[in-house]
Amino acid sequence: MAEQEASGLQVLLSTLQFHRSETDAGNRCYASITEAALRAVWASKKPLGSAGEVRIGRFAMNGTRQRCQSASSASPSRSSCDKDVILNILGVLTDLLSLGTGRRIQYVISKGGSEALLQALAIAAQAKPPDHSILLPLLRLLARVGQRDRKFGLKAQKSEVTDTILSLARRNLGHHLHLIHCLWVLRVCAYNVTTGATLGINGAMELLFKVISPYSKRHVRTVRAAIEALAALLKSKPNSRQAVSRGYLGELLRLYQDWHHNDVSNHYIYIRRGLLLCLKHITNIQMGRETFLGSRGMEILFASVQDCLAGKNLDSIITTAIQILRKCYPKESLPLRRVTSSYCFPLPGNAKAEPPCEASESDESDGEEEAEKYLDIEDVESKDEDYDLETDVTKLRSQPVLDRPEEELEQYEAMCPELAQKFQVLEFESEEEKCLENRTESLPSTPSHFVPSAASVKHSNCKWRNQCVTEMGPDPGKNEFRVPFQCWTKEEKCRWDQTDGKRGNEEAAQGASSCEEEHPARSHAFALRPPPEDVAERLESSDLVTKLLEKHQGDIPFHSPLFYLARAKCVKSIPSYKDLAFPDFWGHQAPPHSKPVLERNYGVQRDKVLDDIRRLIQPGDVIGRTVFDVDEPSPSSPGVPGCLQFFSQFESGNLRKAIQVREFEYDLVMNADVNSNQHHQWFYFEVREMKLAVSYRFNIINCEKFNSQFNYGMQPVLYSVKEALQGRPRWLRAGHDICYYKNHYRCRAATGEGTRGKFYYTLTFSIKFPHKDDVCYLAYHYPYTYSTMMSHLDMLEQSRNPKKVYWRQQTLCQTLGGNGCPLLTITAMPESKTGEDLEQFCSRPYVFLMARVHPGESNASWVMKGTLEFLVSTDPIADLLRKCFIFKIIPMLNPDGVINGNHRCSLSGDDLNRQWLTPNSQLHPTIYHAKGLLYYLRSIGRAPLVFCDYHGHSQKKNVFLYGCSIKETLWQAGCMVDTAVITEDVGYRTLPKILDKVAPAFVMNSCSFLVEKSRESTARVVVWKEMGVLRSYTMESTYCSCSHGLYKGVQLGTQELEEMGSKFCLGLLILHLKSLPCSQKVMAQAALLLDLEEEITDRAQRRCSSSSLETDDEPPCVEEIDYNADSCSDGEEDFSELDQEIQECLSWAEGEREDEGATMGQTCSSKALRGLYISGQPASSSAALPLHSPALGMYSGFESSPV
Ligand SMILES: [Zn+2]
Repeated sequence: MAEQEASGLQVLLSTLQFHRSETDAGNRCYASITEAALRAVWASKKPLGSAGEVRIGRFAMNGTRQRCQSASSASPSRSSCDKDVILNILGVLTDLLSLGTGRRIQYVISKGGSEALLQALAIAAQAKPPDHSILLPLLRLLARVGQRDRKFGLKAQKSEVTDTILSLARRNLGHHLHLIHCLWVLRVCAYNVTTGATLGINGAMELLFKVISPYSKRHVRTVRAAIEALAALLKSKPNSRQAVSRGYLGELLRLYQDWHHNDVSNHYIYIRRGLLLCLKHITNIQMGRETFLGSRGMEILFASVQDCLAGKNLDSIITTAIQILRKCYPKESLPLRRVTSSYCFPLPGNAKAEPPCEASESDESDGEEEAEKYLDIEDVESKDEDYDLETDVTKLRSQPVLDRPEEELEQYEAMCPELAQKFQVLEFESEEEKCLENRTESLPSTPSHFVPSAASVKHSNCKWRNQCVTEMGPDPGKNEFRVPFQCWTKEEKCRWDQTDGKRGNEEAAQGASSCEEEHPARSHAFALRPPPEDVAERLESSDLVTKLLEKHQGDIPFHSPLFYLARAKCVKSIPSYKDLAFPDFWGHQAPPHSKPVLERNYGVQRDKVLDDIRRLIQPGDVIGRTVFDVDEPSPSSPGVPGCLQFFSQFESGNLRKAIQVREFEYDLVMNADVNSNQHHQWFYFEVREMKLAVSYRFNIINCEKFNSQFNYGMQPVLYSVKEALQGRPRWLRAGHDICYYKNHYRCRAATGEGTRGKFYYTLTFSIKFPHKDDVCYLAYHYPYTYSTMMSHLDMLEQSRNPKKVYWRQQTLCQTLGGNGCPLLTITAMPESKTGEDLEQFCSRPYVFLMARVHPGESNASWVMKGTLEFLVSTDPIADLLRKCFIFKIIPMLNPDGVINGNHRCSLSGDDLNRQWLTPNSQLHPTIYHAKGLLYYLRSIGRAPLVFCDYHGHSQKKNVFLYGCSIKETLWQAGCMVDTAVITEDVGYRTLPKILDKVAPAFVMNSCSFLVEKSRESTARVVVWKEMGVLRSYTMESTYCSCSHGLYKGVQLGTQELEEMGSKFCLGLLILHLKSLPCSQKVMAQAALLLDLEEEITDRAQRRCSSSSLETDDEPPCVEEIDYNADSCSDGEEDFSELDQEIQECLSWAEGEREDEGATMGQTCSSKALRGLYISGQPASSSAALPLHSPALGMYSGFESSPV
């Protein structure tokens, strides 16, 4: 803003403030500063744009000069001069503030505008009789400035004008034009809750109720202003309490009903919505919600919403009414006896074996101001990242000492057989034998010979599993997972032949009755749930498998049902699963086409929420029948006829309870992570007995994240057995009417993690199943089980070319649950036995990759699948890549979590990716040993060149990396960075830059290299800090889609995820070529294979052409997910509404008569404005004012669009 204007403004404001100067000297000073102010305004063309406006300025200035000159020479007319000056100033201010944007008003506020205007009001109000020609424009200015000044209420209190306004309003109860002006300012003052409370104490609410009730269509403008002021006052909790105890809530409901019924032609939407806003604020307090329920508020609002749904332009009413309904819906606990996981796992050693216990019934008595709390929580969540950055330079740079005795590292030597001295002898033995040996050592049955015996005593979970059995004593209920160690030590060569499958099932049949602890069959007892009856008769499972396998086309790459079956038998789950999910067994083949993101239907959430509320209003319609319950299984019942049958007792399955709500609607409850009472997000279950052409609605009612990609076009996935048997074995994105919103369920349990888990959200979707009486599976995302991974590794090993691909599968360690965590070593076989080639082999830099520490992130496994398949492939690029690196890969860091259907944690109930600083060898064995192996590599000077941990991100789009940078962290945190002291290799940016160019799903702009305090114990940060790995990353893959590039607008499928995994490898090769010294041979090969520059520029161009401005987060959802959150708009932040109200009122007031609001919504005419521009009085009576008619006649800025 121009400087002149700035100083001019200041002068104007101070003039206003001190306009009661009594002396001549004062008056002279007065005149001169006013003139200066006006000159400033006039001189700066910016504020008063056009030539016409400049003329106004000049006119005004001349006028003022005249008046003031005459005033200083003739004192009797001084007071009239005073008035003129004031009116002129008000006029100029009004001019100034009516044009342009709110920025100008903000400027006036910053220069003390509010204070000056308030003081002017205090003085003007003292005049007897009150001079409304000054008061009214002053009040209008106050309303407009005040609503944009966050501290206006406090300023008003400080200037002691709140009472002034109240008494002005009281005196003008009969004069609606004057009253309205007072109400506007009252409303603006009440935006500050403290001021609002003071006004309440001084009787503001009684005053307003006098204006708004009983229902009448006379003076609608005044009623509207009063209701809006009342809504603002009710934001203060003491006011709300007072309103409830005085019975105003019932009165408001009655008024709302009257307006609703009488406003047939929807002329008074503002009034109806204003009343709803009053109710919305009152119901922020517990007492308000109770009274609302007691006054049949739910029924009244629900009925009115039903009426409004048909009408047009009633969204503001519907939205506000639904917010109130959702808030007042009585809170309930989940329909479970306890929220703690159905599965409990006794922990080894002294570790706390009990899952977090549930707190005593505390109800909501401690949560009186619930809404307030929501705000705090959401605030914390959203601001988390900014305040969380690590700014302690020493911490960022520190390299803590080893977290274990150095001798312990020796055991990891065995995990680097590629470095062994006797390599020549070992590796060139018969490949066949080697192959067999490798497989044997990967089986859980063989004690891992490469881990020294001392360590296995100390760390192996086997020992404590035995101890645990003896210590805890027999527990019939928990028998199943306490299968003793001996069971696994028996020689079981999980062979993948059909007879084995048969035997297993026969044994299972026997084992079921005998239940002997040592019966080896217990781990074999696997069955396939029978497929649809018209496909196969209900048969003995073994026959069924055989029969089915005859049908299997075997055309799914890297999948074999037999391999799967064999691996699945060796899996140890806590519930001792005996069933296989068909999709995992049969396999998944990516569909030929990817599916676009789902267009969200208008008002879908609104309709779903109303359906939920209808349950309360019309309870008779609700069936409420539990049809599936893990906690209380009813083994014999074949299922209720006409009702879906649910099942999820299989690997990665997660469904705890299913309740039929209406004929085709089910509420589903997910199980919490083992030994925990939270982390519900992942789901995977089976459904059968469906009808054709019926849309079934599923509500997953205990989700925990506060938003989800399900609100942005993501669909869950569906697998149909009938489709699979007809040759289309695939998971497909499915479902419509999908949305995700906060529901009325609350968790009363203490979670031990602050406020997390306190609220629940519903994911709702509807599905039309492709076939009648099919067996279908529904999941959060493409499932990828532990057995899938293990059998995949078997297939990979078989398929590789042993002459070219060095492949070694070992067991990193056993998990808590007794499952092996595989460790892979992949590189190229040495080209020959010559010393040179062997040396090249041993000296290749390491790349360390991991995935699936978080079990719910199955997308990470699909990316890893792509990486592995590429690495062992015959692709010449893969060949070259293998010659460049030795890959150490842990494809599944949390097998137990994956097996047991967890979303986030391991069996200990810990998030394993928060244990890297000090992993516990007993509780977090996979992390402990992964870190140990990394320590070992560092200790022999072979820390990896690149470390990457694959994850999935549930809230963001794209695939991207999180890396670590000291400088970027400090800059982002606003710290001064002494670049001379802190030097940093920017090499961490190279790989993501390359990936941005070569991988279509990858987006550099989504990457971040900041080190957060809350992430200090993640793999990425610890490997960066403690192992000194510059390129230490977390790779996040979306569950949904990409914001730009080739996959913009399509939902990623397994094919796209796998592609990402292979492109990651390509990125590594390019990184190698760019940043490491390469032999001429490698370079020549690379040059042949990749026309690098071309490849890169080609991609870049394609990307550019389709890229748009990157926004990191999703835009606000079209419908409020959380009805209590800050984001719930009242429309009160929308300043233009009150501005318009003021303008409309001016046009109406010209005639000094209120004509029942018929002109509401009309824009004001310039004629009307002319008279009211400065003064509230009719134009004729203020002819003395120089600023009037002629000047303003030229002024038409208002006509088109006020502000
Ligand atoms: Zn993760």
